[in-house]
Amino acid sequence: MTLARGYAASAAKEKLAPYSFERRALRADDVGIEIKFCGVCHSDIHQARDEWGGAMFPMVPGHEIAGVVTAVGADVSKFKVGDRVGVGCFVDSCTQCASRHVDLEQYMPGLVQTYNSFEADGSTPTHGGYSDHIVVKQGYVLSIPDNLPLDRAAPLLCAGITLYSPLNHWKAGPGKKVAIIGLGGLGHMGVKIAHAMGADVTVLSQSLAKQEDGLRFGAAHYYATNDTSTFAKLAGQFDLIINTVGAAVDWNDYLQLLTVDGAMVLVGVPDAATPPVSAFNLIGGRRTLAGSMIGSIKETQEMLDFCGKHDISADIEVIDIQAINVAFERVVKSDVRYRFVIDMKSLAA
Ligand code: NAP
Ligand code: ZN
Repeated sequence: MTLARGYAASAAKEKLAPYSFERRALRADDVGIEIKFCGVCHSDIHQARDEWGGAMFPMVPGHEIAGVVTAVGADVSKFKVGDRVGVGCFVDSCTQCASRHVDLEQYMPGLVQTYNSFEADGSTPTHGGYSDHIVVKQGYVLSIPDNLPLDRAAPLLCAGITLYSPLNHWKAGPGKKVAIIGLGGLGHMGVKIAHAMGADVTVLSQSLAKQEDGLRFGAAHYYATNDTSTFAKLAGQFDLIINTVGAAVDWNDYLQLLTVDGAMVLVGVPDAATPPVSAFNLIGGRRTLAGSMIGSIKETQEMLDFCGKHDISADIEVIDIQAINVAFERVVKSDVRYRFVIDMKSLAA
């Protein structure tokens, strides 16, 4: 066991505060990682505030981890000391069921999340990346391409893969019109990745305040959804809409923007009940309403390599860990351009 230093929430209504805890001793197939940077995902806030139910405290959030390998177990062949690596939303998965080989382990029972979860033993709580180091099985560690700075690469481990996976699955590419709802942490990665895939990208944001950035990230079009004429203007246009909003918006408004056979994929998790979906908005255009959750380890590595090739990383605001509670408030107010990333050096301050 080694002592780790980090920040934890002790209860749903509490601010995050310094917290020390044990990391397991390195097993034969484990990789020891010094965490250099960790992104702040809106899911960290939902979970630390127990907005999804079932939260376990004390909770050390963080699943956008970028760091450097400091030790490897005897059976580790994929990594060596000094490698630049990442860890995303899960650190273990089912080793029993027949379907585990399909590279969709994020959807299998037995998934062990990076934090707010139990290890495979069913009793040891997992703790995430708002900490100085982590020990992870080699099969759940990702390689970060050399040309991507670690701070800007950290958000790829959740925001990047969460957008890459549906864009890839629903075949965003040349000739496809793709809309991204919400230009936040997930949304801005979606714009960059969809553009690099060759799609014609539109941002649907609440206002035009971030238009210049959206166009810089690769969007060809940008519309404000607080202007009600936007919905009439864009009716029937998009092959694919990815909805990153974590609030209760009316999906019917957006379904009407899909072309025949178009799909709207939910990745945002609304914090309140959404209005019922009208069947007419689906059957009138053979449309699909779907959802998607992060991506497999194989697809996450594919995404990182794609981002390395296209020199894509997140636009970030680097913060000291002592500023985490202020950062949470700012994320909730959509006041972040476009991901907070914690510099773990600040833990020593
Ligand atoms: P974020 O940085 O806060 O971005 C969300 C964006 O949604 C905001 O920047 C804002 O964009 C828009 N928005 C916020 N409130 C809105 C409202 N009331 N009406 C309309 N638009 C609104 O959050 P994030 O980290 O990208 O995460 C987004 C959601 O995805 C969260 O619910 C998170 O838990 C979830 N998530 C899901 C997965 C998955 O695997 N499916 C993975 C990670 C996160 P504009 O200012 O441009 O309007
Ligand atoms: Zn996340």
